[in-house]
Amino acid sequence: MEPKYIFVTGGVTSSLGKGIICSSLGLLLATRGLRVTIQKLDPYINVDPGTMNPYEHGEVYVTDDGAETDLDLGHYERFLNIPTSQENNVTTGRIYYDVISKERKGAYLGQTVQVIPHITDEIKSRVKSIGESGKYDIIIVEIGGTVGDIEGLPYIEAMRQLRYDVGRENTVSIHLTLVPYLKAAGELKTKPTQHSVKTIYELGMQPDILVCRAEMELDHSIRRKIAQFCNVENEDVIASLDAKSIYEVPLLMKKEELDRRVLKKLHIRAGRPRLTDWSRFVHAVSYPDHRIKIALVGKYVDHQDAYLSIVESFKHAGAANNCEIDIVWTSSDLLDARNVGDRLGDVSGILVAPGFGARGVDGKLAAISYARENRIPFFGICLGMQCALIEYTRNVCGWKDSDSTEFNADTAYPVVDLMLEQKSIDDKGGTMRLGAFDCRLEKGSFAQKAYGENLISERHRHRYELNNQFKDQLVENGLRITGVNPDRDLVEIIEIPDHPWFVGVQFHPELKSTVKKPHPLFVDFVKASFEHASQNKTLLSNHSQKKPQTA
Ligand code: GLN
Repeated sequence: MEPKYIFVTGGVTSSLGKGIICSSLGLLLATRGLRVTIQKLDPYINVDPGTMNPYEHGEVYVTDDGAETDLDLGHYERFLNIPTSQENNVTTGRIYYDVISKERKGAYLGQTVQVIPHITDEIKSRVKSIGESGKYDIIIVEIGGTVGDIEGLPYIEAMRQLRYDVGRENTVSIHLTLVPYLKAAGELKTKPTQHSVKTIYELGMQPDILVCRAEMELDHSIRRKIAQFCNVENEDVIASLDAKSIYEVPLLMKKEELDRRVLKKLHIRAGRPRLTDWSRFVHAVSYPDHRIKIALVGKYVDHQDAYLSIVESFKHAGAANNCEIDIVWTSSDLLDARNVGDRLGDVSGILVAPGFGARGVDGKLAAISYARENRIPFFGICLGMQCALIEYTRNVCGWKDSDSTEFNADTAYPVVDLMLEQKSIDDKGGTMRLGAFDCRLEKGSFAQKAYGENLISERHRHRYELNNQFKDQLVENGLRITGVNPDRDLVEIIEIPDHPWFVGVQFHPELKSTVKKPHPLFVDFVKASFEHASQNKTLLSNHSQKKPQTA
């Protein structure tokens, strides 16, 4: 079968949930037996989001091959349970960078290099190269931003051309819009959708299917009206109603038959969508028997997209433990040794988040001391693990000014130090230790028991590491090193064995948790937190609605 392309654009406003619609459609098609991938085209000029701060961009999602990418790729992986890679995220910065590099090498000798055709050709080649890899039947292409944005124009033009290049019958164009409810008029309004479709028409693209985000059901007359004004069939007006959880969206899209309409237009016959396991998961998320509080300590807690994969990992692990996780968002800036007991007194687990820079580190250290001394399950990720090392060496080993050289270059105890190869690097973009690396686990450790394996592979994004010069002394002082990268002897996991559950990891387990495969460390951390809650009588009352009989 020739590869088929589904182009997904958005109109009226941002935040309509394009990434979730793409993921949901991808899942529906994949469960029908098709090989699906999703590619995100981002119209900003950064080469990748790695240099943006979380307020600008939310979480930076890292792939196995070490690409720093948009957080939507996390949704793609969590829904489809297949890894993405560098080719799944294209930015304007990357496109221009490559075109200009080629120009310097003389690839366009004699020509004026222009947006059309050179930039648009480069965009098309990125999309087509996934299609031509032979790995997928369907490539869903999500175009970031909103139609009409100046910076998005080359992408829409490239899609317009692609529809002819690969044949109209091999493409579908889906446009997401908003159908707002006007309280004063007591009506859903279709005009913004009509305008949005008009804008995309002016750019030469005709949407085949409209996915209309709305707060309430679109009745037949509204659907008819939208169809009529926007030149699509009635059945191609799909309602995307607000859902309690993003994981319900595939079920809603199945009900609206989005996948069936897409397959019809692509002339593909495929099996039926199978969502039994997915429905079971949604049921487990919606109606857990238990509820516990876990603190997430970080400096971006007022901007929760910064920790998106951690939040989603908790949902997966919660479902696996029949337990809802009430995340207690705890700003590390506001935490200190005096108030930590008040702020974290009723939590059953403490997670200290990844991060960069000295701000908030003291608060993280206070949270870690509290977890260690009060035997509360503790999970430290990346900077969270490095902080656990600092806390342990200061307060257990008694090395008073131990630190990471990221925060204090002159410390007598640089227990966390810049990795050797980082010392000669000045550029900031794409230069960290990025992507998947192996890690060998110590038998009988918390980690090895959680994974049930001896060799794992996890994704990284950091410049600093545990300083191996202190390894023996740390072990003598009771810390256990339970995960090491076999190729370079880098410490990847530390644990305190005499504790109910105390694990710090240098990698980012949250980037590999999916609905189908909840991450073992999150599952085990939630289990330990649940046990802590049961023993300390801090189980919360379950506030989910009455459980229906069947899933
Ligand atoms: N700032 C630390 C480092 O670069 C931790 C990074 C992180 O938490 N992702 O090593």
